[in-house]
Amino acid sequence: MPLQFDDLPQNLNQMGFGDIHIKYDPQTELLAIITIHNDKLGPTIGGCRCIEYPSFSAALQDALRLAKGMSYKTAISNLAWGGGKAVLLKPKQIKNREAYYRTFGRFVNELGGRYITSIDSGTELSDLAYIAKETPYVSGLSHYYGDNTDPSLATAMGVKHGIEAAVKFKFDKDSLAGLRVAIQGIGHVGYHLCELLYPLGVELIVTDVNQQALERCKTQFNAKIVAPEAIYQVACDIFSPCALGGVLNETTIPQLKASIVAGSANNQLAENQCGELLNRYNILYAPDFVISAGGVILATALYDKRSMTSAITQLQDLYEVLLTIFTRAEKQKLPTHIVAEHIAEERLSG
Ligand code: NAD
Repeated sequence: MPLQFDDLPQNLNQMGFGDIHIKYDPQTELLAIITIHNDKLGPTIGGCRCIEYPSFSAALQDALRLAKGMSYKTAISNLAWGGGKAVLLKPKQIKNREAYYRTFGRFVNELGGRYITSIDSGTELSDLAYIAKETPYVSGLSHYYGDNTDPSLATAMGVKHGIEAAVKFKFDKDSLAGLRVAIQGIGHVGYHLCELLYPLGVELIVTDVNQQALERCKTQFNAKIVAPEAIYQVACDIFSPCALGGVLNETTIPQLKASIVAGSANNQLAENQCGELLNRYNILYAPDFVISAGGVILATALYDKRSMTSAITQLQDLYEVLLTIFTRAEKQKLPTHIVAEHIAEERLSG
């Protein structure tokens, strides 16, 4: 349902917002929205998305949804940070990229550090450097990035810890050796996940729409390849969605042979009730906003100039965070994502 402006106050109230800031600059054609969901735990962080939108209300809706998601990610990961997001309504052509992103940088700066920006779809590392010419409130600058500081590697590390927690809870096992993991999407996160799981003796089954990526996984990790529509029926222990949102729905869930769903994709549940459906099929679901928090954990560590060791410890903590969620969900007979949301909301309300 598209967002109706007249319903905005009610929507903001329901979502627990926060504030909205809008900037228009006719010279660069920058039309930017910054949404600050909740800054009770600390300054807000969230990527800067620059894509074409069909309407301003669609962009605003995206900015609100994404900022709220960031608040939940930071809260559940025990970070002293809140959730925010920037959405730039990309013009047909950005005539001068530097001027465009520097104007955005000044907009970020006006908020005085309540919102820290970072990378997201449509924004490049070089754009972050333009932003940084106008404001210190930016995380993930290219000069900090080495092999160890790739956000998708951090996300994959978090997913690996999440899989380990789910395996401990479901099978009471400390090792992943011999388990079968079916990965949907072997892009940035999915590929790193293969890299991390293969040495542990995991049998990998992968799918993607990119043939080259598939061949690489077959060669490097002896992965078995299946067609995109066949991934749901694969006989495996863990299904790991690392491509698209909405993949857990009334059609796909009954097809799953896996006992666990644990992957990085955002918004995996097509609808909230799909969490209950997973329960009915006795499938343990690692809530997406928890298991995919590795990227934001790294971004906050980089901004705070904390050591890599501290970021890695926080990534490892996702194991305990997920075990707590699984245990509470079992006790309270609730879907795991509901329990995770309750925990995040408790923290966000202080
Ligand atoms: P990516 O674009 O690098 O990878 C996605 C992969 O999915 C691509 O290889 C693409 O070809 C493949 N794909 C597309 N349609 C498909 C289909 N129908 N079936 C199978 N594969 C398909 O993205 P990414 O950075 O690896 O992120 C993966 C998911 O994780 C996304 O949903 C993203 O929002 C989420 N996520 C990523 C990060 C991160 O750090 N990159 C952090 C949190 C969440």
